[in-house]
Amino acid sequence: MPSTRTGVFVCSCGPNIGDRIDIEKIADEVSSIDGVVLAETHGLLCSPDGKKYLASRITEYKLERVVIAACSPREHEITFMKVCETAGLNPFMMQMANIREQVAWVTPDRNSATEKALRLVRGAINRTTRHKPLMKTSIVCNPEVAVIGGGISGMSAAIVLADANRKITIIERKSSLGGYPENEKLVEHLKDTVTGRTEITVITDREPEEIVGFFGNFIINLGEGTDELRAGSIVLATGCSVEQSGRAVASEGFRRMTEMLRISTDEYGFPNREHDSLAPVSTLVGGVYVTGCAGGFCSLREAVSQSEAVAGTILSSLIPGREVETEPRTSVISETLCRGCKTCLEVCGYGAISFDEERLVCSVNSVLCKGCGNCAAACPSGAIKAQHFTPDQIRYQMAGLLR
Ligand code: SF4
Ligand code: SF4
Repeated sequence: MPSTRTGVFVCSCGPNIGDRIDIEKIADEVSSIDGVVLAETHGLLCSPDGKKYLASRITEYKLERVVIAACSPREHEITFMKVCETAGLNPFMMQMANIREQVAWVTPDRNSATEKALRLVRGAINRTTRHKPLMKTSIVCNPEVAVIGGGISGMSAAIVLADANRKITIIERKSSLGGYPENEKLVEHLKDTVTGRTEITVITDREPEEIVGFFGNFIINLGEGTDELRAGSIVLATGCSVEQSGRAVASEGFRRMTEMLRISTDEYGFPNREHDSLAPVSTLVGGVYVTGCAGGFCSLREAVSQSEAVAGTILSSLIPGREVETEPRTSVISETLCRGCKTCLEVCGYGAISFDEERLVCSVNSVLCKGCGNCAAACPSGAIKAQHFTPDQIRYQMAGLLR
C-alpha cells in the first residue's frame, strides 16, 4: 500500500455513537495502520467547533487523506467535503465510514458494534489510498426561459418574465397561441401583448421531442428542421384532459414531457411539488416549474397567480451570470475498449451519452452526466469508469473491510 498522510477522525455524535461503540479503541487500533499519521476522537464533528478542529488538524498535519467515521454521508458528506476544501485538501480525498446508521443504531452488542465499526473504518482508510483528486467545474447559467404551452398560463408567465428583460421562447403544439376559448377577450389581449414583445419568441406546431440538462442549462430538441433550444429554466404550462368521470388527468403529451424531464408525478400524471405551501409551483427537478392546468385543474384566477409565482421564482433563482457547479464524479468511456454496442446509451436516463457515427464509439458529456453509474454497470466491455467508484477503489475498500 502506498504511504499516505491519512488522518482518521472518529465522531461520538454526542451519545449516538459514543454510547454504543468504543470509539477510543477504534482510534487506537487504526493509528498503527501504514500511512495513518493521526487518529483521534471528537464529541461532535459537524458542530462549528468540530469543523474548526478538523480544518486545523488537516493543515497542521499536512493531511493528504481524511477518513471520518461518523453518520451517513447523506447527512454530512457535503459538510466535511467543504471543511476539507477550506483547509486546502481536495474534497474527494475524504471518505466517510457510516458507523452511526449502519452500526451504532442497529447493533445492540457493544463489542460487536465496535468490531463492525472498526472494519468499516479500515475499509475507508484502504479506499482513500486509491482516491484521486477530482476537480469541480462550473458553468454559467443560461438566463433564458422556455415556456411549454401557449395558453393563458404560459403567456402570463412569459409577459412577467419579459417585463424583467428575460428572453423567453413559448413552444405551442397547436398552430396558434390560445387556450380558455371562453375567455376570448383575455386571450386576445395576452396574444397581442406577447406578439408585441421583442423578448418573446413563439414557436408553434412543435412539441419537445427530447429534453436534457439541468437547472441553468437545459437543451430542448423540437424535432427535424429546428435548432436546439437552450434555456436555464422550463415552465410547463400545457393543459390537462378531463375524463368522463369529470376527473382531471395529465394529457399523453404532458406525460411524455414529465418522463423526459424525469419529474415524479402523482397518480393522475401531474408533477409532485417541492412543497405544497412553500414551493407550490416548483417540481422536484431543479429549474422546472408548473403553472395552470399543467399542475391539475385550476381556475383562471389561480392559473394567472401561479404564473406570476413561477416568474417570480425564476427571476430570483436564475440570475444572469450565476454559475452552477457540475458533478465531478462522472463516468468516462475508454475509446479503445468501447465496441460501439450502445448499451450505455440506452441505460443513461440523463441523455448524457452520445454515439459517434464515424469512430463508432460512445462518449459521455460530462456536463450532463450525473454520475449514477448505470452505464458503467451495463457496459459489456468494461469500457466505462465511474470516477470515484472505480473497481480498484471498491476492491481496496472491501479488502480493508474483510481483513
Ligand atoms: S456499453 Fe460499453 S462497449 Fe457498448 S457502446 Fe457503451 S461504452 Fe461502448
Ligand atoms: S453515469 Fe449515469 S448519468 Fe453519467 S453517463 Fe453513465 S448512465 Fe448517464
